[in-house]
Amino acid sequence: MELGRFAPTPSGRMHLGNVFSALMAWLSAKSAGGEVLLRIEDLDTVRCTAQNTALLRDDLRWLGLRWDREQPCQSSQGARYAAILEELRQRGLVYPCWCSRADIEHAANAPHASDGHTVYPGTCRALSEEERAERMAKKTPLWRLRVPDGTVSFTDGHFGPYRENLAVECGDFILRRADGIFAYQLAVVADDIAAGVTQVVRGRDLLPSTPRQLLLYRLLDAAPPQYYHIPLLTAPDGRRLSKRDRDLDLGLLRQRFTAEELIGRLAHAAGLTDTDRPCTAEALIPAFSWDKVPREDIAIHL
Ligand SMILES: [Zn+2]
Repeated sequence: MELGRFAPTPSGRMHLGNVFSALMAWLSAKSAGGEVLLRIEDLDTVRCTAQNTALLRDDLRWLGLRWDREQPCQSSQGARYAAILEELRQRGLVYPCWCSRADIEHAANAPHASDGHTVYPGTCRALSEEERAERMAKKTPLWRLRVPDGTVSFTDGHFGPYRENLAVECGDFILRRADGIFAYQLAVVADDIAAGVTQVVRGRDLLPSTPRQLLLYRLLDAAPPQYYHIPLLTAPDGRRLSKRDRDLDLGLLRQRFTAEELIGRLAHAAGLTDTDRPCTAEALIPAFSWDKVPREDIAIHL
């Protein structure tokens, strides 16, 4: 059976873009006869609050997007992530790094990816055990995954073929920060494997992070889910919507619209219906098809 998921980060109120992602994830799983899991991604315990988490659940219920199961929130799963990191360390796949962001920016040999960001130049990759022990005594390191050379390719369920050479475009990436917080890449893969998630629906802005997650699936000897990336919502002038658009957070949208009005408008913008008349998420299940959803960003005016 298909298992999709909502994986919201409770760092603020749900936003129109989050509502769209949640609706599409729910419809994708439900139209395939599957179930949906809720997982609160609160790795950043400073920004993520219990109050925001409570609002998130209330907003999902208000929207009619019921989840069938729930996984423990990420902030409670540190011991599991640490065990996975330790297993990778014992296999020689991760190593400690003491470089600051400035060290990396200023490294003379630091390569740049096609989008202009600096790729980690591997400064701490080849330190001897003695050098590591010496540094370890002075400063807590972060931990990086040793990325093999070679292309990671996959077929996105909506955007089609995608490929990336992680060594060139990304470099050895962080699995645990020096302050102890586990990286999103590690936590999300560990949790999706543990829950048996079979499909991941999320915004196109996360497409470039997918090869890193696929590499982790391979190293952990687990089958990856089918990914479906969805177009982003923009303002009518093409500007990408963001959390800064306060009028599009659900606290305010709930004062202006009923859940059916909001869902009707999003469904129409996504090409699922002919008009934007109010409807429930449930009523959209038979109409849902990935073929109807555009690949270009979607301009929306509420
Ligand atoms: Zn380093």
